[in-house]
Amino acid sequence: MNTQWMIKTQGDPLGTVREFTKAVWEAFDLDRMVVPTNGHAKDTGPHLIDDPDGLDNLNPFAPLMPINAAKLIPDLLKGDSPPQAGAMLRPCEMRTLIEMTKQNGFDTGNLLTMSVDCLGTLPMEEYQWRVERKGSPKGLTQEALQFSRQGGIVRYRYRSACQVCISPQATMADINIGILGLPVRQYALITIQGQPLAEALNLSAMAEDEIDAEMLEGHQRVTSRLVQRSENTRERIANGMAELLPENVAALIDQLESCGDCSTCLDVCPLCDIHYPQRAEDGSFRESEVMRWLISCSGCGICEQSCPQHLPLTIIFNHVQAQLAEEFAYEAGRPS
Ligand code: SF4
Ligand code: SF4
Ligand code: SF4
Repeated sequence: MNTQWMIKTQGDPLGTVREFTKAVWEAFDLDRMVVPTNGHAKDTGPHLIDDPDGLDNLNPFAPLMPINAAKLIPDLLKGDSPPQAGAMLRPCEMRTLIEMTKQNGFDTGNLLTMSVDCLGTLPMEEYQWRVERKGSPKGLTQEALQFSRQGGIVRYRYRSACQVCISPQATMADINIGILGLPVRQYALITIQGQPLAEALNLSAMAEDEIDAEMLEGHQRVTSRLVQRSENTRERIANGMAELLPENVAALIDQLESCGDCSTCLDVCPLCDIHYPQRAEDGSFRESEVMRWLISCSGCGICEQSCPQHLPLTIIFNHVQAQLAEEFAYEAGRPS
């Protein structure tokens, strides 16, 4: 049986993804789910729902990421009899979740993951301004979707983490929905990890039999181009601020320790919910603790958007992580 399908979106990709997710909920008899929702700025973001009717408000295409939704997963799975749970995550959130599970933070046996190609996200003020201009979050979502074939809109206005994203392509979840590089008003690409899941979902009933090779090639070409463009941007920014980048973990620790009582970047990072880098009584960090944290960094950028000093943490952490990744031959976000 196939593990990859094209589903028809009938001019309404958002509606199709909502219906598809309802079918997933039913097929896997889910009790609850964490999903990105549509709404005005203060409501847009991940929410926990315990009724499939809540999926009427699902919106994985709204260009806003107020938190990293992986932070909600440990609570989602809590309970004496763990619920059958689902989560729809952006690719960077999915990478974070993989790192959290590698650290043995919790059991994900009852968790079904879904991910959707990411069209990029905007800083909050930019998002609000564009929503007002478009009249509604839905209007802005539609605009973002119109440009999915090219790889997204107003890239230069994205959050800085999105401008240097390691990969916006959904590949790591149990069920992945591809839209980048595709004529999304006609088709979306569904990729399922593993035959048993594919059989349980019985996608052949709702999808085309054949994958259009040309569309698949377009999808891969656009996602590769985005990854390359991000890499170039990352290099350019890092070169431009070379003098500000910490030489090594010890230098980064000096920087963090100079922040005084602030620990916002740790508090908002889901990785630190699993293992919070410990500090000695005098406030100093142990090098091994910071290394353990940052080698797993997914590049989601939530730390940067929360930093009261507006430090360019995405590039700083990425720089340190690249050193650690090389030293320990480690790739963050890959299942072990
Ligand atoms: S970092 Fe990448 S995956 Fe995450 S929101 Fe930005 S573009 Fe999307
Ligand atoms: S350190 Fe920052 S960029 Fe990395 S996973 Fe944590 S919040 Fe995201
Ligand atoms: S959030 Fe910013 S100011 Fe606060 S500890 Fe982190 S880097 Fe320092």
